[in-house]
Amino acid sequence: MPGKLEMIVGPMRSNKTAELLRRIETRREYAKQYVMLLKPSTDTKAAAGQVESRNRNGCGKMEAVEFPSGNPWAMLPVIKATEQRIGKRVECIALDEGQFVHDLFLFTKRLLDLGYDVMVSGLELDFRGMPFGEMLDLSWLVRTYAGNVTELVAYCSCGAKALYPQRMIEGRPAEYSSPIIMAGDNYEPRCEEHFVLPGRPH
Ligand SMILES: [Zn+2]
Repeated sequence: MPGKLEMIVGPMRSNKTAELLRRIETRREYAKQYVMLLKPSTDTKAAAGQVESRNRNGCGKMEAVEFPSGNPWAMLPVIKATEQRIGKRVECIALDEGQFVHDLFLFTKRLLDLGYDVMVSGLELDFRGMPFGEMLDLSWLVRTYAGNVTELVAYCSCGAKALYPQRMIEGRPAEYSSPIIMAGDNYEPRCEEHFVLPGRPH
């Protein structure tokens, strides 16, 4: 039987990672499930091998298996080896920062086909307000395989719902032409009115 997909989406500072960690804790504690947390290695916000939530009220830190964001397939033998070691099936695979993962759609589909429940958190839009990686594509899998999408909310400083991650470089809005993935960048959640993107073509 195929697994189910839970998506956790929302802009920066909407506590996506905290929500992912909370769900992992719940499955482990109450459902006695073995949950593997995977983390693409382009993630820069935590120490190696850990996923850390920015929300201080959340679960804090959790051990994660790191993999190169360009090759999630390397995790399939790791999952198998874990199952041999623990002597039972892994019930759930949790994936943080899904927007960075190459082949996210096919990799998630494969995990579901193999019978794993999958939980993915990530950004749907990049700093330009355009689809980020393959996150938006996962909604097809939610409809087809059953599951759900949880949309978390962040607020602009004006109080309106923030739709976009506003990238700031040295205190100024980043240019449209800046790279999609950038080390040491900084974000503010912004609403439609206060989202600024200098140099945007449309
Ligand atoms: Zn605003």
